[in-house]
Amino acid sequence: MLILRCPVCGVDACETELAPGGEAHLERFGPGSSDEAFEGYLFVRANPKGVHLERWRHAMGCGKWFLAARDTATMEVLGTYGAQTEAPPADIQSKIEEASR
Ligand SMILES: [Zn+2]
Repeated sequence: MLILRCPVCGVDACETELAPGGEAHLERFGPGSSDEAFEGYLFVRANPKGVHLERWRHAMGCGKWFLAARDTATMEVLGTYGAQTEAPPADIQSKIEEASR
C-alpha cells in the first residue's frame, strides 16, 4: 500500500485517502502557443520506470494538493513537498540522484 505524508497537515495518508493528479512540474501552454506545444501539454506525459514526480491531493484529509517523488519500480517514496514549488527541495533532490544511479 502506498503511504504518502501530506506536507500540509503532516498526516501519513494511505492511497485510499489520496487522489492522484498526474505528472508534476508540467510547463503550461495556452492560447498563442504552437499546436505542437499545446498538444504536448494536454496529452504527452512521462511514464518512467524509476523516479517520477507526481501531483497528489489529500482528498480525504485537508484537501490540499502536494507533490511527491516516488520510484515507480520499487514504490519507494523519496519525499513529499509543497505544490507551490518549481522543483523538489535539496534533500529530496539528493535522494532522487542516489536512486537514479
Ligand atoms: Zn493533508
